[in-house]
Amino acid sequence: MTLDLAYAPSDALANVRGSAIRDLLKLTEQPNVLSLAGGLPATELIPAQRISETAARVSADPAALQYTVSAGVMSCREVVADYVGVRDVGQVLLTHGSQQALFLLAHALLNPGDLVVVDDPVYVGALQVFQSVRARIRALPITAHGLDVDLLRRWLEAGERPRIIHTVSNFHNPAGVSASRSTRIELARLADEYGFLIIEDDPYGRLRFAGRSIEPIAAHSDRVVLLGSASKVLAPALRVGWMSGPPDVIGLVERLRQGVDLCGSTFSQLVVAELLADHTWFAEHIDVIRQEYGSRAAALTSALRETLGGRVTFTDPEGGMFCWVRMPGVDTSALLLEAVAAGVAFVPGAAFGVEADFGDCLRLSFATLTPDELAEGVRRLAVAVAVLDRG
Ligand code: PMP
Repeated sequence: MTLDLAYAPSDALANVRGSAIRDLLKLTEQPNVLSLAGGLPATELIPAQRISETAARVSADPAALQYTVSAGVMSCREVVADYVGVRDVGQVLLTHGSQQALFLLAHALLNPGDLVVVDDPVYVGALQVFQSVRARIRALPITAHGLDVDLLRRWLEAGERPRIIHTVSNFHNPAGVSASRSTRIELARLADEYGFLIIEDDPYGRLRFAGRSIEPIAAHSDRVVLLGSASKVLAPALRVGWMSGPPDVIGLVERLRQGVDLCGSTFSQLVVAELLADHTWFAEHIDVIRQEYGSRAAALTSALRETLGGRVTFTDPEGGMFCWVRMPGVDTSALLLEAVAAGVAFVPGAAFGVEADFGDCLRLSFATLTPDELAEGVRRLAVAVAVLDRG
């Protein structure tokens, strides 16, 4: 029986583009397909034993299973303030993953038609949030040095007035690159001059396996809300993320949050607080992830160089989970069908395009497969390219 409820989506929801990636993941879940498509951290590197011991200890106290305040459990806010280098705990609010931080910020601060600037290619979860408030969206190309601040300056000089600029500063999803120090300083300067707010989305910054870390944009301006998350460093299912930023923005988000889900999970936040506060354990744990991702990234890029060298250009990852590949002359959406037939999956670049097309690009994740599987995945990708060439 089907119910004819005749409900149409709200205007706001009608404006949200469905995630092509979610749909694609279904295709790639077939057995025998090596998936470089996902955006998940490696399951075997989640510290399950340590989390379960901590969870057992924490939940022995019934207070850990009670509601908490909307800004989050104070002891966890303090640990997170220390983790992100913020002095005032009033600048920190805990969320249900950093995705919720994006949602809360957009709904607390934006009206329909407000201009929001995002990255091109974009983190699709951010695009969906800004579409859900019916913002006017423009997208700045991501260059090798992060978002194109020169173009942004020209837009501003021509009279564009963004309310918010969202950017992924480290190991971009999907573009793989990080913003240089000068990009960060210039973006912060422009925020101060033109009065927009920067949402600096940084779930991957701790996953650096090469090169030197760079101070966040937030170090250069007060007009920045910095987002972080336990998802990639501990476990996504804990659903603990955070924002740190100006206390007045935090206050608005706190007010909105009461009507969204009252509060986050006291229990999860206490578990995360214990794990992040054990500096020795956490440093060792994160080193293991970094080393493993580093060798996986190296296996992927050397396979790309050896197997597809003449056909592709790609970013050389220094951290995070993604490698962004360009295959001039190849329609990567068409390639995906051949690739799945050959037993490998990726996300076509078109899924991430806002103003640009990226039809000849693809995102490869190196986080979840072993070096041997990654090499085999690239071999299968080359088979698919050869089939497409013949077709
Ligand atoms: N921002 C970016 C750039 C991401 O890639 C992701 C997840 N893939 C998120 C935010 C949201 O992550 P979470 O809600 O698990 O913290």
